[in-house]
Amino acid sequence: MNTLAVYAANPEATIGRRFEEPASSLRNAFQRDRDRIIHSTAFRRLEYKTQVFVNHEGDLFRTRLTHSLEVAQIARGIARTLNLHEDLTEAIALAHDLGHTPFGHAGQDALNDCMRDYGGFEHNLQSLRVVDQLEHRYAEFDGLNLTFELREGILKHCSLKNAKQLGDVGQRFIDKTNPSLEAQLTNFADEIAYNNHDIDDGLRSGLITIEQLQEVALFNSQLQIVKAKHPKLEQRRLIHETVRRMINILVVDLCETSAQNIQKLAPESIQDIRNAPYLIAFSAEISQQNLALKQFLRKNLYHHYKVNRMSAKAVRIVKELFQVFFSDPSLMPPEHLQNANIDKARAVADYIAGMTDRFAIREHRRLFTVEESL
Ligand code: MG
Repeated sequence: MNTLAVYAANPEATIGRRFEEPASSLRNAFQRDRDRIIHSTAFRRLEYKTQVFVNHEGDLFRTRLTHSLEVAQIARGIARTLNLHEDLTEAIALAHDLGHTPFGHAGQDALNDCMRDYGGFEHNLQSLRVVDQLEHRYAEFDGLNLTFELREGILKHCSLKNAKQLGDVGQRFIDKTNPSLEAQLTNFADEIAYNNHDIDDGLRSGLITIEQLQEVALFNSQLQIVKAKHPKLEQRRLIHETVRRMINILVVDLCETSAQNIQKLAPESIQDIRNAPYLIAFSAEISQQNLALKQFLRKNLYHHYKVNRMSAKAVRIVKELFQVFFSDPSLMPPEHLQNANIDKARAVADYIAGMTDRFAIREHRRLFTVEESL
């Protein structure tokens, strides 16, 4: 590892855990956070949760688990280049999607709709809830008891109303300050990962084509370079060679632009970072190209009629599950029933949010189909 920058997050100067614990003799505080995340139940469930394509649609599509690994890989590379803390960056990347519902954004929107009168549902907040409360593994506390820096990194967005109830990690939304650079860069790594793997998965599924993608400058410029260098390349290699160059362009631009921003500010501590404007950024030109790519994907992939059909089914499943459990919480497994005595709607939302795609489909069948065994 390179020398850590003075403004990087430092495990020895961590703001700390919610419950005090003796330090590990072998691992720094952020390594320990990462290890706890990997051993959590919510992390294992990421294997059967999806973003765009539902898990049973094919074995080759990304799941939230492979997505999180790709984010971690991209984020660590950026952290190392900028002399930031790789272990913290990796841990934030691996934890960033833990609170996602089944069925990607369709599932999240449906659950948020169901929770409208009961405080709403935000997946970022839910990721924090998972690591702070919902994992039941340790004898002395609920949750994973992660460091402040990790929890701060998970909470990417938060409404002001929720921020006020969160205490320490919510404070920055009230003060309008920023998180560590490790957290900032992981947000970008997330975006770089999903835009580019959605191109790959979109092409693989046949929902979008290379011809269509040529209207996207970021894709087309790299495609032409690959074609010129390898005129007879088969399609799969052509796509991969193009996508890997796109990722490289985005990562290099992000590192260069961010390094300049950091240099201009000359921060001397992580506190300077928190008080400064967001320093991790693309250049204006690449930011524009990246936006055009996102717009293309929204229009042509995320709103493709075949994706819409799956999303509509997902919304129906989530809403019907919510209604049935909300009207009769005794239909939930006993461990969820306990929380229902305190806040019924939240207990139902926690149960549904924790489901994988296939578990939600099965649970729906068990509750709505007479022939299905219980
Ligand atoms: Mg993500």
